[in-house]
Amino acid sequence: MTETSQVTPAETVKPTFRSEISVELVKHAASDQDVLWAARVSTAGEQSLDELKKDPERSKGLINYLMRDRHGSPFEHNSMTFFISAPIFVFREFMRHRVGWSYNEESGRYRELQPVFYVPGPERKLVQEGRPGKYVFVDGTPEQHSLTERSMRESYRQAYETYQEMLAAGVAREVARAVLPVGLYSSMYATCNARSLMHFLGLRTQHELAKVPSFPQREIEMVGERMEELWAGLMPLTHAAFNKNGRMAP
Ligand SMILES: Cc1cc2nc3c(=O)[nH]c(=O)nc-3n(C[C@H](O)[C@H](O)[C@H](O)COP(=O)(O)OP(=O)(O)OC[C@H]3O[C@@H](n4cnc5c(N)ncnc54)[C@H](O)[C@@H]3O)c2cc1C
Repeated sequence: MTETSQVTPAETVKPTFRSEISVELVKHAASDQDVLWAARVSTAGEQSLDELKKDPERSKGLINYLMRDRHGSPFEHNSMTFFISAPIFVFREFMRHRVGWSYNEESGRYRELQPVFYVPGPERKLVQEGRPGKYVFVDGTPEQHSLTERSMRESYRQAYETYQEMLAAGVAREVARAVLPVGLYSSMYATCNARSLMHFLGLRTQHELAKVPSFPQREIEMVGERMEELWAGLMPLTHAAFNKNGRMAP
């Protein structure tokens, strides 16, 4: 669900409301072979690169063995950079992942923040039941959906108007941004390797093959699902071994 921004005659920018997030793989040097040459240096030394094309079944078996027995370092010799556009509350959760990740995010001090705001789509389950850490989410009534959408839109509009008023009055961006809510979209580059991505996916996605289930917020899970899809295309053997061994980072 996307509405386009319009400039009114009074030059006030109208907010855009979105329910989807975007994830693009902008740069990568990542393949299953990167795992193999790194692992085989143990036994083949400088010849590990020559071993690469030998026996694909053995390669698959080696990757699975490394994953199963938690030999994690061979999964670090690769790199993926994602461009992500998502609400600020997703980035707050995302940046808790400290190890094997590099981040750069747009600045609310150096640029005027654009009025793009998150409103859950109709498929987003709205009502939580159960105990903390193990919630079950259910759909919610049409009334709850329309209240959520209406309230969010009203509140976002009001907050953005105040932000613009303050900027127009000469207040610095870094001060005025305090009135904006965490449903505002931000954008960042996030660079990781397969090992740090697997750790992230183990915690931020729900999956029937997970040995240790996690209960992430749906919006960060949407980011995780898209990253996983892109990563699986680059490193299919590693991805399959991740699933086969309970979706835990080695
Ligand atoms: C469902 C869910 C609910 C959550 N709820 C909350 C919450 O209510 N409040 C909250 O504050 N956070 C919450 N978090 C965030 C969580 O506590 C972690 O900060 C986040 O998942 C990142 O995990 P990590 O530390 O393992 O990852 P990374 O920071 O990437 O670290 C990777 C691994 O490196 C090692 N490591 C990293 N730093 C250290 C260190 N300082 N000392 C020792 N070992 C280290 C650990 O083995 C760690 O697993 C939640 C996370 C999830 C998935």
